[in-house]
Amino acid sequence: MEFGRRRKAIGPSQSEYGHCLQLYGVPPTENISLAEFETFAVERVKLLKTVETLGVSYVKGSEDYYRKLSAEISNLNFPYKLEASAQDDRKQRETGPTECEKRRKDHISHFILRLAYCQTEDLRRWFIQQEMDLFRHRFADLPSRHKTEFLHQNDLRYDTITDKEKEALMEKLVQSTYTLSGAAVVEQDIYKVPFQDALDLVRTRKVFLMAGYAYIAHQDIVTIVLNDFRTRLSKALALTARSLPVVQSDERLQPLLSHLSHAYVGQDYSVQKNVGKISLEQIDPLSLKAFPLCMRQLHGTLRAQHHLRHGGRMQYGLFLKGIGLTLDQALQFWRAEFVKGKVDADKFDKAYAYSIRHMFGKEGKRTDYTPYSCLKVILSNAPSQGDFHGCPFRHSDPDLLKQKLQSYKVSPAGISQILELVKGMHYQLACQKYFELTHNIEDSGFSLNHPNQYFAESQKLLAGGKEVKKEVDSPSSAGQGAPARKPPDTPQSKPGNPVQAVAEMTEDLDSLFQDD
Ligand code: SF4
Repeated sequence: MEFGRRRKAIGPSQSEYGHCLQLYGVPPTENISLAEFETFAVERVKLLKTVETLGVSYVKGSEDYYRKLSAEISNLNFPYKLEASAQDDRKQRETGPTECEKRRKDHISHFILRLAYCQTEDLRRWFIQQEMDLFRHRFADLPSRHKTEFLHQNDLRYDTITDKEKEALMEKLVQSTYTLSGAAVVEQDIYKVPFQDALDLVRTRKVFLMAGYAYIAHQDIVTIVLNDFRTRLSKALALTARSLPVVQSDERLQPLLSHLSHAYVGQDYSVQKNVGKISLEQIDPLSLKAFPLCMRQLHGTLRAQHHLRHGGRMQYGLFLKGIGLTLDQALQFWRAEFVKGKVDADKFDKAYAYSIRHMFGKEGKRTDYTPYSCLKVILSNAPSQGDFHGCPFRHSDPDLLKQKLQSYKVSPAGISQILELVKGMHYQLACQKYFELTHNIEDSGFSLNHPNQYFAESQKLLAGGKEVKKEVDSPSSAGQGAPARKPPDTPQSKPGNPVQAVAEMTEDLDSLFQDD
């Protein structure tokens, strides 16, 4: 894949993407604009995040799971289920991307995320899990004929048994495979694969085993294909990680990739709608009801110890800015608290006020920084001893988290649900559950990506459904403690120059804060 400012004028052809599903064996080789690179990647992250959320909120394969995931795949214009004919393509072109364009996006976006998600074990695991769930859903929903075509196109020619063998094994096959009836054994292909390739089916006793082979019904072959997909993807990510230094030496891609794995794909909090609408007196009561656990913890510590170390000041300071604190209010807030501790007013003005003004874009390069997203908080700058920043669901010891939730009067059943989600490493979903429990609602109805989103949703509920949050039209990858994106008419945000904007995002604010 080459990354230029212009893409080849030639569009993808039907023959290039012969099936709506891919095993992503061959990387894309066409030129692609950097703007398209970023858009594709952000949309796939968004899709994979939906896969994760639905996988925890619903039973995989259930009707709701099926309906919601299918809708999201279609909404984001990824290919799904049906192969389009050339005639369909012409029709679709009038209303949106053609089937070929969708397949191209599926192909390219998968490879871009490989680059972004091969970097750490945690990222690799998350990426493989979501890609597998997405693949399972799309494969399982293919008509039988398309499944067979897919297997053949990808050279997955598993051995099938002959009619004679079917006849001999009929009774055993029907008894051991609950999806098989006598008629189905006659009509369908029955695959014979080494049992170690079908461990999931063997473990759940869904197949007939004989002489080291598992006999698998056509509809269960997805398990085998998934194993294959996981093995390929896992190897590919390891290989990609090895070649990463070369890719990262490309100064256009490095900032994009490092931000993609932290990408926040929800609302853009770079522009605060409620500036000046929050008074300093409101912060204490708001912290109890409307702050997510990470910010509640930081606020409580600041009030108790009259100090936060730099990681905490950054995370909390940008959050407060995001909920509407003005620069004057922020200076007043931090000064009032710090002088109650070991810092006098003079030292505060010399050592801390600059960094707060910098956070608001009034010093240095005058860059307006945006609050941290959940992924940024979860994945970077883990807290060490004496730190209170980070995500309590990710960074707290489960026993301490339990104690904290008990002290916040979360019910024992609710605590168990939260701890179960934490155990499965679904930190944002655990936080969402905390939101539901502390707001007494069954279903929060949103997918949590950002502490400021938590606050906005809470305000919306507490205000009786009145809209507080700002809506944006398109997904954004901003929200990483990064400079706010420029308005659409500025040179930085013009198509073709996204890298400059992203490069600005990477400016390191940490160094401007006192490390104490
Ligand atoms: Fe904060 Fe996000 Fe963690 Fe919730 S999931 S505690 S909002 S970082």
